[in-house]
Amino acid sequence: MAKSVYINGAWHDGADDWFEKTNPATGETSWDGQASSPEQVEDAVTAARTAQRDWARRPQHDRTTILERYAEEITARADDIALAISQDMGKADWEAKGEAGAMAAKVGISIKAQTERAGTAMSEAAFGSLHLTHRPHGVMAVFGPFNFPGHLPNGHIVPALLAGNACVFKPSELAPSVAHVMADAFAAAGLPDGLLNIVQGGRDTGAALLDDDINGLLFTGSAQTGLFFHRHFAGRPEIILALEMGGNNPLIIWEPADIDAAADIAAQSAFLTTGQRCSCARRIILPKGTWGDAVVDAIVARAKGLKIGDHSEEGVFLGPLVSEKAAENATDFQMMLSKKGGKSLRRLKRMDRGGGFVTAGVIDVTEATGIPDEELFGPLMQIIRVDDFETALQRANDTKYGLSGGLVSDDDALWVQARSEMAAGILNRNRPTAGASGAMPFGGPGHSGNFRPGAYYAADYCAWPQASQVSDEAARLGAVGFPK
Ligand code: NAD
Repeated sequence: MAKSVYINGAWHDGADDWFEKTNPATGETSWDGQASSPEQVEDAVTAARTAQRDWARRPQHDRTTILERYAEEITARADDIALAISQDMGKADWEAKGEAGAMAAKVGISIKAQTERAGTAMSEAAFGSLHLTHRPHGVMAVFGPFNFPGHLPNGHIVPALLAGNACVFKPSELAPSVAHVMADAFAAAGLPDGLLNIVQGGRDTGAALLDDDINGLLFTGSAQTGLFFHRHFAGRPEIILALEMGGNNPLIIWEPADIDAAADIAAQSAFLTTGQRCSCARRIILPKGTWGDAVVDAIVARAKGLKIGDHSEEGVFLGPLVSEKAAENATDFQMMLSKKGGKSLRRLKRMDRGGGFVTAGVIDVTEATGIPDEELFGPLMQIIRVDDFETALQRANDTKYGLSGGLVSDDDALWVQARSEMAAGILNRNRPTAGASGAMPFGGPGHSGNFRPGAYYAADYCAWPQASQVSDEAARLGAVGFPK
């Protein structure tokens, strides 16, 4: 059993209900332990509050140096990180190692972002000078999703610590293991005790953290949960709320010269990480007619050819879904689309090897009616055929979300139009929708977030600006009608 509460630099047994996570490829237990009790959550917040005061007073250089050492410690533990992620949620080896690499790279990006977006500035004024500084919020609760259980919480924690905050991190209960490696890396880097505390558990643990004495909630997860948090903190403007949520992302393919390239981009957009990326394309929109038919055939061929397996198997592109339940949800969703008139071109099926394993599916929903505007977090691509580009844009924007989108086209004029009309925070041309640069903001309008994009812009929500007019000496003031 794992110790599951990390407070003030020490691990303790949890005092609440026991839970476990099993490897969705093998069924073996990858993590088990007791969840943190509400009292332990409170202790974690108190430890963070105490440690944060000194941390905020330290010069920026000290905080930056410790975070730079953390990047080195993460790099040294890249294999452990990748293994923890793969065993908990099934991610293929190459991808889990990529996630570990992104965690280390986050530090340099965050230092640059903080300097550029939340640093200090000074200019002269008639009375003296104008100074801009940024101040930390205090104690940040960080909630992680299961699909990037290291990289995404790390993407909140690193900029939050850099800015002088302390964190209480609640990992996803579907991928708890990587947090232990992160705690080791922070300790080895010399992060003072109490600045990163970890509470393991599910919704109850999360609920206890929400109701504790926090100054901010940095959340990455589903829209359903994010909307719940948004309502929970309604009327509390003093709490900084950064919500990174899901999408029902469209990719328009409009007659590029290379059909195979278009099919590659579509298949990777929809199937990377077994469709468990928030930026995966769910809806592929193409013209009716023989050209579009050829692209769809090429996409289906790719869906059939994907190598699926356990993370440790050679040459695996896709791992299983995170759990058996997720696999069941995916087949149920496909059935619902079929009942509404969708025509299956390649079925998403549970595989004989069981667990979370499913094949990648493609379903044509052009003639279907009443399809819900929902994100199915799995490898199921919906195909929509349209008569013209205007309709393609309308269909693309026919969603309450706005996270990612894309256009596959060689036509510059169509790209100019798409950029001004498609409502997506991450909008790519001739590149998969899934995958983004850490050197850019990440987030989108609608139900995909609350306009607090992460990645490069995370610096913005980790500190608040303080603007000062400064005169070195108190001097008398004059004004019309003001007594001399
Ligand atoms: P989730 O919303 O189910 O859970 C995320 C976290 O919130 C977990 O730690 C969970 O325990 C906690 N939580 C859930 N309900 C809660 C409640 N009622 N009270 C307290 N805590 C609660 O998300 P998930 O399934 O882990 O992750 C997948 C989702 O995340 C997808 O919708 C995906 O699109 C989204 N996502 C978004 C981004 C982004 O940057 N926009 C990135 C990755 C994933």
